[in-house]
Amino acid sequence: MSDAETMVATACDWLAGQQVQMIDCLKTLVDIDSNSYDKAGTDAVADVIVEWLEADGIAVKRTPRPDSGDILEARLDGKGSDDANGHVLMMGHRDTVFPTGTVATRGYTQQDDIGYGPGVADMKAGLVMNIFVLRALKRLAPLPFPVRALFTADEEIGSRDGTAFIRAAAEGARAVLNAEPGRVSGNVVTGRKGGAAFQIEVTGKAAHSGVSHADGASAIEALARKIVKLHALTDYDSGVTTNVGLIEGGVSRNTVAPAATAQLDTRFVTNEQRVNLLAALETIIAEEEIPGTQATIRQTSGFLPMEPAMSEALFVRYQAQADELGFRVEGEFTGGCSDAGTTASLGIPTLCGTGPVGAKMHTDDEYCHLETFVPRAQAVAATILGFVDEGSA
Ligand SMILES: [Zn+2]
Repeated sequence: MSDAETMVATACDWLAGQQVQMIDCLKTLVDIDSNSYDKAGTDAVADVIVEWLEADGIAVKRTPRPDSGDILEARLDGKGSDDANGHVLMMGHRDTVFPTGTVATRGYTQQDDIGYGPGVADMKAGLVMNIFVLRALKRLAPLPFPVRALFTADEEIGSRDGTAFIRAAAEGARAVLNAEPGRVSGNVVTGRKGGAAFQIEVTGKAAHSGVSHADGASAIEALARKIVKLHALTDYDSGVTTNVGLIEGGVSRNTVAPAATAQLDTRFVTNEQRVNLLAALETIIAEEEIPGTQATIRQTSGFLPMEPAMSEALFVRYQAQADELGFRVEGEFTGGCSDAGTTASLGIPTLCGTGPVGAKMHTDDEYCHLETFVPRAQAVAATILGFVDEGSA
């Protein structure tokens, strides 16, 4: 056997005996409320992760953040611990969409092989999996390259704080594996749309709609005209969509509206589409629909797309390892965004949805298939170890 094959066998053997411990850890993490805006909660999850990793001799760097949850980066040094030596990065987010207090009424429960609870699949199961992959690798001789795992805290609100740390942690990486939940089909994610959210503000001129209608400039009418143009940018064939999902404006029925606002959601498949879309938005916003009205647009959050080309080669490796382990897996495209788009858009081979299989994310019915913990952890560990025979970058 090659070095890599021996290491894969050792790691997979160890992981095969960890299912009960993984589920224990999952219960612990699910039973800590950790909404994206709940710094105390996401930090409490961080405390536990640090404790587990350090107990196993794995170094964790904790970067305190003033408003968001702290950033954790666990590191296994490579042979010679050369930092620039093409590391592998695993990623996961500790925050959930569920409000603080959810655990008190709806904590972790389990029926046979299915676990339930807030964030059980998205993505506390993925966090646990990454922790156990690190622990499995820690039991081997040092790899020829470093392995790192990043645990961020605000993905569900667009990774406003986390993105800079993701970019820094991914720099120079040979591969990124993001442990978002595996699809209900059992597949991993090989492509994701990017998305950007915008706030649009339109101002006009107020006037009494009975006494001096002609003196007014309706911000509502100007916004309405823009909405029609913005929605016309949707093109299902290319995968670009635009949606004004919220509007507000005016002061009373009989006043020409002096102000109106809207929130716009956009999705795209490629970075080129993103650039073109942003330019089109600027043009539409700049057009004066009605004399006396003006509009501004401001991006409030966004994820870059995970272009399928960036996952192809890494997916082939992952699929081959899964085959060896005895499970069949395909790649799947999804319209949902994730941090994988950030690393893929840096040009780094990226695979997403490597976490345990789950479904009904962001709902009270969210669940995780617990029997997928071991094989998914083994597939990730084996994919990382597959680089061993290639040595340093
Ligand atoms: Zn997620």
